[in-house]
Amino acid sequence: MKAETEQVHWLVFFNDQLLLEKKDNKCVLPLGIQPPVKPLADTTIHSITTPMGQVCKAFSIDEAVHENEKFFMTGLRASYDCLPYSQYQIAGKAHEILHWDKNSNFCPACGTPTEKREPIMKKCPNCGNELYPAISTAILALIQKEDSLLLVHARNFRGPFHSLVAGFLETGETLEECVAREVMEETGLKIKNIKYFGNQPWPYPSGLMVGFIADYESGEIKLQEEELSEGRFYTKDHLPELPRRLSLARKMIDWWIEKQK
Ligand SMILES: [Zn+2]
Repeated sequence: MKAETEQVHWLVFFNDQLLLEKKDNKCVLPLGIQPPVKPLADTTIHSITTPMGQVCKAFSIDEAVHENEKFFMTGLRASYDCLPYSQYQIAGKAHEILHWDKNSNFCPACGTPTEKREPIMKKCPNCGNELYPAISTAILALIQKEDSLLLVHARNFRGPFHSLVAGFLETGETLEECVAREVMEETGLKIKNIKYFGNQPWPYPSGLMVGFIADYESGEIKLQEEELSEGRFYTKDHLPELPRRLSLARKMIDWWIEKQK
């Protein structure tokens, strides 16, 4: 087997905590032929193929590894700040696969224990149902109005920052319909000129964020209070605290700020 003779990157998770190796005052994914910590006997070791076609190995552990001279654990989000971006991306993918693995032990149609057939496919031996990692698609909407943009604070944000309107795609709607609906539901505003900006895997736990730019058309801001605690238009020189740089939302806001110069 290839993995026994070649060094691979190891993605070892305890919940959302990722094991990292300290190296020359930086941190990296552990690299080696053998795993950096011993997995339990019944642990599934997943082969994760990166977008560049490189194979990594991932598994979950039952207890956190205490920090020592060589290793420490950090949250997946925080790993963005110290890992090379390509390694952060692989870690995100591994986290999604481990989340899927943990949540697909039984067939949702008939309750039979599933069997793993491919790196990202399980099959029910009773009814033939095939299970793949599900991805929840969510939109981000950057709404421009003259020289200002709409920023909101959602009650579920992890911090006091403000960001773009966001929401999950519903069955049967296009992404643009989702953008218009979410903006209307959350802020009461009608928008126009909805245009695609970009997208980003969002492994918390298994999402895809798709960003759109749109223009304000009409309406007064009326916040959906169960979800949002604040929301209004801000000009470039009076922006509140913004989301962290790992997010597509921040990339979109930075794009808008750049455009105001
Ligand atoms: Zn079944």
